[in-house]
This record gives sequence, structure tokens and C-alpha cells, in this order.
Amino acid sequence: MPNAAQPLDLLLLPSWLVPVEPAGVVLKEHGLGIRDGNIVFIGPRTEALALQATEIRELPGMLLTPGLVNAHGHAAMALFRGLADDLPLMTWLKDHIWPAEARWVDEDFVRDGTDLAIAEQLQGGITCFSDMYFYPRIAAERVHHSGMRAQISIPVLDFPIPGARNADEALHQGVELFNDLKHHPRLSIAFGPHAPYTVGDENLEKIRVLADELDAAIQMHVHETADEVAQAVAERGERPLARLARLGLLGPRLQTVHMTQISDDDLALLVESNTSVVHCPESNLKLASGFCPVERLWQAGVNVAIGTDGAASNNDLDLLGETRTAALLAKAVAGNATALDAHRALRMATLNGARALGLEACIGSLEVGKAADITAFDLSGLAQQPVYDPVSQLIYATGRDCVKHVWVAGKILLDNRQLTRLDEQDLAATAARWGQRIGARHE
Ligand SMILES: [Zn+2]
Repeated sequence: MPNAAQPLDLLLLPSWLVPVEPAGVVLKEHGLGIRDGNIVFIGPRTEALALQATEIRELPGMLLTPGLVNAHGHAAMALFRGLADDLPLMTWLKDHIWPAEARWVDEDFVRDGTDLAIAEQLQGGITCFSDMYFYPRIAAERVHHSGMRAQISIPVLDFPIPGARNADEALHQGVELFNDLKHHPRLSIAFGPHAPYTVGDENLEKIRVLADELDAAIQMHVHETADEVAQAVAERGERPLARLARLGLLGPRLQTVHMTQISDDDLALLVESNTSVVHCPESNLKLASGFCPVERLWQAGVNVAIGTDGAASNNDLDLLGETRTAALLAKAVAGNATALDAHRALRMATLNGARALGLEACIGSLEVGKAADITAFDLSGLAQQPVYDPVSQLIYATGRDCVKHVWVAGKILLDNRQLTRLDEQDLAATAARWGQRIGARHE
């Protein structure tokens, strides 16, 4: 019981509360108390009502879950949403995305695009996201102002990128940003070597040394397509994951994004090293990249998180929808209807994401002592009736339009579907202006 002499800042009284840890539990008639941004009480409603609280919110028909964790994306690319669709990965990247980035991406683009992505993600029940994009200091600043939580991955490629003339400059900026933000309560800085085919051994070794020194995470696109693996084998005689293992990059701090190609040796490497995988099913489907064998990884004990990827390849930042896709796809890929059940799908979108980002001690489940990063879903609509299992309803029958409230570190950032710190009309007008400029050049 929390100290009764000290009132709670906020007491939430939902119809259902799914803590995610312990797994598979649905609590009815329970309350959740928050003080100083942290969860300090979870218990039966009768006990909750005996506590002093500055604010009490009755949430009838609502399900409380840990805030969703979007473990991979490129936030500012929200401004490229729908610019080039229905193309294979390399054509899409080389003929459309890279030229558009060279033409348009500057500090203003990243500022406006990141704000748009933050707003969309909050409206979708996401409380924490991983970003990998240019001008990471600007993205970090936007996250700071928004009240949201994020991992900012410093993009590193062997060639010049917007904001950095070469990899050394990018790494130098990354270390500076890491040091400036190392005590920030909601921001963490990681290294983001783009992919095995855009970063050579020399720069990967530098990243490994820096990550070891700073105890920083590394996020990287790995084995996104069969072509990527085949080409690496033809050119180097080595699969990309084996190369990363040889360079000493595998480990619990590495987040491998996509992993649609997994041999028995690859699986053994992931398991032995405790490396996380970030599954991006809709990006993989849209670019026809392949299928990540989620159930196989899960059964082997690999931590699998989920991400939307950027809005240019998805085209939304809807992690709830992504999770539904993942749950359905996992069954098709495994040929087994019991694969990735609804409760495990929710765990993938919350606690596994937190674990991949190294934040599991702080977020990812509703437990006393963790930060109050919470999403309230309204399950009172006709499309959710009747409610036998609210988690089944959430994963298989609910869209992100049912997200009602979102708290990060106990602060309400979405209140009755309204953003509390960002102006929706301003964001829409700014995005439309970018759309007109970019669209005019691409017609
Ligand atoms: Zn990506």
C-alpha cells in the first residue's frame, strides 16, 4: 500500500486493467494510482477508493494497458507519406526516397515531420518510440517538448547524409548528444548504423567501441530482404548477421530490425547473444521484403519487439494496427493458428519493445515502481461488443480511433482524444504546406 499520508496525484478506475506482467492477466474492478509520474498502487477498486487522491478518473468501458512502444521508425518521414508506393525496396530507396531526402531534408523538415509523427503516435496510444533519422538533435528537442518518451538513434552511413558530411562527423555529433542527454528522464541516445550494405567494417568497429564505452544501444536494419543476404554472400562470402557477430556487435544492446531471413545459424547467433529483433510486418509486406518468423524466434527465446517503420513505407504509424497484422501474419507464416496469440501480441507491443530499447526496468508493463506510461482504450463501442476478453477485443476488433487517453510519466498527453501539448490544426496546416511544395516537384 502507498503511504496513506501522501495523497495520490491521480487515481484511475477503468473497467479492465491489463498489466502485461504477469503475463495473461486481466484485472477487473481495479484501480491504478500515480504519484510523481510513477505507478504507486494497483489493487482492488474498494482499496483504491480508500486512498486519498488529488484527482480521480472513472473510466467506464475502458481498458488500461501499458503505453505502446513503437520500436522502429523514421519519424520525420511522416512528411513523405504516400510519396512513392508500390515499388520494390531498392527502387523505392534509390530512385525515390534518397533523392527526395537529398532535396528536402533540413532542420525545418525534421522539426515539422517529427512533430507530425509524435502527434500521430500519441493519438494511436504510443507512449515511446524509436527514431532513426537525420538531424537527431532536432528530433530529441521535439520529443523533449512533447512530453513523450523516445530512443533517438544516430544515423550512420558510409556516405554523406543531411546534417553530417561523413560517418566520423555523425559519430561525433552522436557522442555529444549522448553526453548532453544522458540524465534526461525520457530520452535515450543510441547508434543507428543504417544497414550492413551501407556501413563498412571500419565504421561498424568504431560504433562497437563507442557503444561499449558509453553503454549505448545500437539499432540497425538487418536481413531486410533475401537479396540483401544473397548479395552479401556473393560479395563477401558471409551473411550480414554472421559479419556483425564477427565484428562483436551482437548482444542485448543490439536491436536488429526486420530479420526476414533467418537460417538455423542466424537463430543460434541471436539466441546465444540475446540480441533483440524488431518486427515490422507492414513495411515488409508493402515492400515485399519477406516474412520474419516471429513464432519461431519467440519459441527459441528471442526477444521480439514491433515497429511501424517510417510512414514512407507503411504508410501509417499505427502500432495497434501493426500488432493485429503481426498476430495474423505470424499464424500464416507458422502454419499454426496458436502462433502469437492476442496476449503475446500485446506483450510484443509493450514490454518486449521496452526490453529491446533497454527500458524494461522503467516502462512496458503496469507495475508498481514503473513510470506511469499508460494508454486507455475505449471498448464501449458496438464494434467491441460483447467483451469476453478485452485483450482479444483490443488486438482483433479495435482500431486506434478507440484510444481515449494517454499518459507519459504521469502527464496526460492525450485527453479524451485531444492532444494537450500540440495543436492539431497547426500540425495539419504545416504538413499540408510541405505536401504542396514536395508534391509540386514530384508531379
Ligand atoms: Zn526502417
